[in-house]
Amino acid sequence: MEKKNSKLKIILPVVLAVIVIAGGAAWYLTRTETKLGRAGYDKAQIADIKQLFSEEEQKALTEVPAQSGIIEIAKSDRYQKEHFADYLKGLGEGENVTDLLHNYDPWVITLRATDGYTEENLDLYLYHRQDGTAEDAAYTVNYINMSLLYSKSPDYDGKRFEDYEKYRAKRPDKTPEEIVAHVEHAKDYANEKYFIDEYFEKYEAYRAKNPDKSLEEVVRAVNAGIDKPFYTEMVNTDTSKGYLMIVNKYNKLPEGYSPKLESLSGYGNGSMEPTAAAAFRKMVDAGKEAGVSLRSLSPYRSHSLQTWQYQFWVDAHGQEMADRESARPGSSEHETGLAVDINTAVEESHFERTPEYAWLIKNCWKYGFILRYLPDSEYITGYVYEPWHYRYVGVEHAEKIMKLGITYEEYYAYYINNPDYPETGGPVE
Ligand SMILES: [Zn+2]
Repeated sequence: MEKKNSKLKIILPVVLAVIVIAGGAAWYLTRTETKLGRAGYDKAQIADIKQLFSEEEQKALTEVPAQSGIIEIAKSDRYQKEHFADYLKGLGEGENVTDLLHNYDPWVITLRATDGYTEENLDLYLYHRQDGTAEDAAYTVNYINMSLLYSKSPDYDGKRFEDYEKYRAKRPDKTPEEIVAHVEHAKDYANEKYFIDEYFEKYEAYRAKNPDKSLEEVVRAVNAGIDKPFYTEMVNTDTSKGYLMIVNKYNKLPEGYSPKLESLSGYGNGSMEPTAAAAFRKMVDAGKEAGVSLRSLSPYRSHSLQTWQYQFWVDAHGQEMADRESARPGSSEHETGLAVDINTAVEESHFERTPEYAWLIKNCWKYGFILRYLPDSEYITGYVYEPWHYRYVGVEHAEKIMKLGITYEEYYAYYINNPDYPETGGPVE
C-alpha cells in the first residue's frame, strides 16, 4: 500500500503536467496571433493588425495568405472601412495598393464619372480633393485640365484662372494660349474707359501698326472703326436702332431707305423725321425765347439729292476734298431725316463764334440733339468740325453724349453696340 501510494504520487503530477502542456499548446495554436504568424505576417505587422482591424477582420486575415498591403491600405487616410473585404480580395488577385485605394475612394469614383477626367491627371485631382459632390469634381477636373493648358503660355498667372475661364466662356474658339495672352495684355488697357474686351485683338493689331499712338488713341480709333480706311468694308447700318442708328463712312443706309418725313415749314427749309422735326421745333422755340435765332438750312436729303451734291463736290474739288466735305450717297446722316444743318453750312461763316452756337452747345441735348462733328475729331468722324450740324438721338442719350464730349462713333461703339454686352448693347451706368 505504501508502495502503490508512492507510485501514484509520482504519476499524478506528470499527468497533470502533460494536461497543462497539451492544453497550453492547443490554446497557443488557436490564438489569432499564431494564426496570423502562420499566414505569413511578422511580429510588427501582427501588432499593426491588432490595432487596425476588428476581431472579425483579423479572423478573415488569418484565413488567407498574408497581404501586407492591407496594413498600408488601412493606414491610409483614404481607407474605406466598409470595403475591407474588397481590398483583401483585390490584393489576393494581385491588384496594387494605390489602385485599390482609388477604386473605393468616393472622391475618385466621382471624379472618374466626370466629363474630361483623365487618369494621368489623377494625382493632381487628388491633390485638390474636395468634399466630393459631382459639382466639385467637375470644377476640379476642369481646373486641372485647363490650368495645365494655360500654364504652357509664358504669360500664365495661376491667380487669374477665373479670368481666363470667363474669357474662354465668351470665346470658346480661342486657344488656351490666346486666352492667356488676351487676359494678361488686356490689363494694359485697364485705365481706358472705353476699352471693349471683344476688340482686344483689333487694338493690339492697330497698336502694332501704330506704335506712336497712345492707348487712348488706339481705343478711340478701333472703337470708331477707323483702323481701316474710310469707305472700305462698308456695311449696311442697323436701322433697327432707330434714332440711334449710325451712318458714316463705314456704315451706310440700306438701298432704298426712306424715312417718314414731316415738313419744318415755318422753321426753315425742308423736312425731318416726325419725332426729330417736333424736337427741332421745340428747340427753335426755346432758342427764340432765349434770344437766339435758329432755322433749318439743310435737314433731310434724299438719296438722289445726296448723289447730286457729292458729285458736285467731286467735280469742283476732286474726290479727296469731296470726301472731307460731303458724304458719299448712302453715307450721309442727312438721308436719315435725323440730322439738320442749322443757319449755315460753311466754315467761313464761323458759326462757332455766334451766340446761337453757344446756346446750342449748352441746350441742344435737352431736345435730343447732339453736335455731331466735333473739333479735332476729323480722324474719327471723317468730317471736319461742323458746328452747324446736329443729329437727333433722343434726350437720354443726347445728354450723356454732350456731357461725355465724345464722338457719336465712340459713343455708339461703347454704349449702343458694345459686343461685351450682347443683351443690352452697352454698360448700364
Ligand atoms: Zn450736315
